[in-house]
Amino acid sequence: MQFNTKLLHGKTSKGYASGEILPPVSQVTAFKYDSMEELEKVFAHKSMGYAYTRIGNPTIAAFEQRIKELEGGAGAICTSSGMSAITAALLAVCESGDEIIAGTGLYGGTIGLLHDLKKLGIRTVYAEDMTYEAIRPLINEKTRVVFGELISNPSLKVMDSAGASRAAHEAGTPLFLDSTTATPYIARPLSLGADAVIHSTSKYLNGGGNSIGGIIVDGGKFKWDTAKHTALKEYGKYGPMAFSVRLRTDIWENFGGCMSPANAFLTFIGTDTLGLRMERICENADALARALDEIEGIEVNYLTLPSHPYHKFVADELNGYGGGILSFRAGSKDKAFKIINLLEYAMIASNIGDLRTLVIHPASTLYVKTGSDEMEAAGVFDDTVRVSLGIEDIADLTEDFIRAVRAAS
Ligand code: PLP
Repeated sequence: MQFNTKLLHGKTSKGYASGEILPPVSQVTAFKYDSMEELEKVFAHKSMGYAYTRIGNPTIAAFEQRIKELEGGAGAICTSSGMSAITAALLAVCESGDEIIAGTGLYGGTIGLLHDLKKLGIRTVYAEDMTYEAIRPLINEKTRVVFGELISNPSLKVMDSAGASRAAHEAGTPLFLDSTTATPYIARPLSLGADAVIHSTSKYLNGGGNSIGGIIVDGGKFKWDTAKHTALKEYGKYGPMAFSVRLRTDIWENFGGCMSPANAFLTFIGTDTLGLRMERICENADALARALDEIEGIEVNYLTLPSHPYHKFVADELNGYGGGILSFRAGSKDKAFKIINLLEYAMIASNIGDLRTLVIHPASTLYVKTGSDEMEAAGVFDDTVRVSLGIEDIADLTEDFIRAVRAAS
């Protein structure tokens, strides 16, 4: 089955208990049992069942199963947001004294999280590029995970997944990959060498801009050495599923970052159209990038432009697509603001992956708490404008942007 068929007719779209085509929304806090013995068995994981939505819920489980299937994983856990997914994944494998290797160019919120983790004794070492050569020398006996974004937001650096996974695996370290901007339509990181994939489902998976959420999909193949990954020491008996089991029964359950059942439902129905939306969004991004690139004084950053430093990965890793984000440098902050304010269709909003085209000045918003060195390493400058393409008609979008850029000049 190909992507769209699998979405609509795959194993996890076979219907539900009463023949519902979509998962029923179990918008409840708790589940009732006829006897205390039955509930005891559920708590002891001796019988299947749900007890309390923070610990498990059938609507959330349906969405987990769907993304697990799309990514080709062995386990999946939904979270309340993309940030809570990254936090839970990292805290499941790192303890005080451990180190993370991360790519530069990460989403601003993730940079903030890595700062916060330092206060808990978990240090991050940044690799200039997510390649074998850049990562391998940074790995030492304290490294517990290599983490990066497949396509970084908004710098559009692409991870060399084969190189990054080789560097990590040679040293007995897993590779965790945030694939929010790529989506399972463009890339399946587990087949590119990642050990776990993370998404902010608030973006392309939901697609309609109506709910915050996150998910972690575990490939279930990494050979955990619990003498090294001491954070997992009580979970060694679960072998390659140690990470998933610790996440579900410990970090995620206790930190309390579950997705709401209503959001799981909205995001489930959002993913029905993921393939169609991504196809259109990527076409729009490519066409707008080419149109803007023709304008003198505008420096465009988009992966399918042949001059882009990461262009070769479009064919090698991204299935020929450049994703839904482009950015351009307007020449000055003042001009960037003018262009943004003059746009008629692109909405000024802090999100990506919506049906609507969204635009923002990242330096004064998403990176306002980030130091200027880190911000520039993330490919964000004072004159950068980020555009998240939607599914509007490209003729209207191109006309809108060209008119705004010319008027601002
Ligand atoms: N990862 C990436 C690449 C993102 O772009 C974002 C948000 O923009 C996040 C993670 C965080 O996701 P959320 O806003 O759902 O917490």
